Amino acid sequence: MSGSSPARPSVVVIGGGYAGVNVAKSLDDVADVVLVEPKDAFVHNVAALRALVDPGWLPRIYLPYGRLLSHGRVVQDRAAKVDAGRVVLASGEELPADYLVLATGSSYPFPAKSDVDSTVEAHEKTLGTHAALAAAARVLLVGAGAVGIELAGEIKAVWPAKQVTLVDVADDVLGGPFRPELKAELRRQLAELGVPVLLGSPLVTAPPTEPGELRTFTVQTEAGTEVTADIWFRCYGVIPVSDYLAGGLAGARGADGHIEVTPTLQVAGQDRVFALGDVSTADRKVAGAAGRQAVVVAGNIRALIEAGSGAAGDAGAAGGAAGLSEYQPALPGIVVPIGPEGGSGQRAGSEDLLPPEMVAQLKGRDMMVGRFAELLGLAAGDADEDPAGDGPPPR
Ligand SMILES: Cc1cc2nc3c(=O)[nH]c(=O)nc-3n(C[C@H](O)[C@H](O)[C@H](O)COP(=O)(O)OP(=O)(O)OC[C@H]3O[C@@H](n4cnc5c(N)ncnc54)[C@H](O)[C@@H]3O)c2cc1C
Repeated sequence: MSGSSPARPSVVVIGGGYAGVNVAKSLDDVADVVLVEPKDAFVHNVAALRALVDPGWLPRIYLPYGRLLSHGRVVQDRAAKVDAGRVVLASGEELPADYLVLATGSSYPFPAKSDVDSTVEAHEKTLGTHAALAAAARVLLVGAGAVGIELAGEIKAVWPAKQVTLVDVADDVLGGPFRPELKAELRRQLAELGVPVLLGSPLVTAPPTEPGELRTFTVQTEAGTEVTADIWFRCYGVIPVSDYLAGGLAGARGADGHIEVTPTLQVAGQDRVFALGDVSTADRKVAGAAGRQAVVVAGNIRALIEAGSGAAGDAGAAGGAAGLSEYQPALPGIVVPIGPEGGSGQRAGSEDLLPPEMVAQLKGRDMMVGRFAELLGLAAGDADEDPAGDGPPPR
């Protein structure tokens, strides 16, 4: 295909995370794609905890967008108001959109996800927190889900002598629809590393310091256990980002902030507006699912374009177009590293738990950086290939 032509319909993709980059790249040959993203680089946040304990990983997880698209463009800005067919950016610029893709994902407390838009500032923030963590002898992690468990493993892998404590109001680690045997195995490995896991009791009061701040404090669980630590991190709190929906799209935002989608990943009641990834109701909030949804969304937009429902105003079969694919949510699966060489997991349809060696191969060792460098059009460099070959493990 040659470069952009006025006849090509416009596709505005909002959000350049796992979902957005995949959709934008897949449609680059058939549409005028504009990817709107406030950050100046794609953040491979699946490896963010590794970069906290080993900042040498930072350049491998902040991947500039410059080579993602051959025809389309990436606009560094934030969508402020989005209605069907029209996007208003924070800068005031307006983008017409024949097709809209809502891929604004979710926020999560730092360091699991980055909350600054500049790569330079994000690196500085991680380096500062790394220094604070390095100087702390005792670490409290509030939340014993996948992020808390993974962070405990990362810290112990680099600083085995540090005292790390996990606390959670839930009665078991991990949460979610996972097998009791998996939770027991993760608890066993944490115990082997000397990580106490205090379950079934919330903290009486939150720590008096900011997360990531180096200052000693003592807190108590409601069950009466005291924990003294020099630093703490919040390891819970996925919040969908959908506050920009306006006009006719405002109603698609559910009470919890997720955007309601149909099995074809169209926003309920909309023919040319799609939503996917963490912000949508399509499936569990994992990058693996976002990648699989991106295939469905890109395929459906391509089908609509090829069926002739191109530029806005065309008579077209956008709504009832036959042949749109439906997304099938995956059965529960998860891979939880505990340091580069430990951890466990479960695969959909398999009775066996994943042994640490398999977890290390799938995620723990290379954190799949090569796959994303390649997607962004960058040389994989020293990054290894993802041996699974089908995107991030289903977490
Ligand atoms: C520590 C950690 C480890 C994880 N490990 C795994 C794993 O091993 N496997 C797995 O499958 N999943 C994993 N996950 C989950 C995974 O990170 C998420 O499911 C994934 O980020 C969802 O991708 P997304 O594209 O929907 O959203 P996001 O990755 O959140 O991307 C959304 C993008 O939209 C941008 N944006 C937000 N608002 C606007 C706006 N108004 N205008 C324009 N752009 C906007 C944001 O800047 C962001 O870049 C992990 C998560 C964490 C925190």
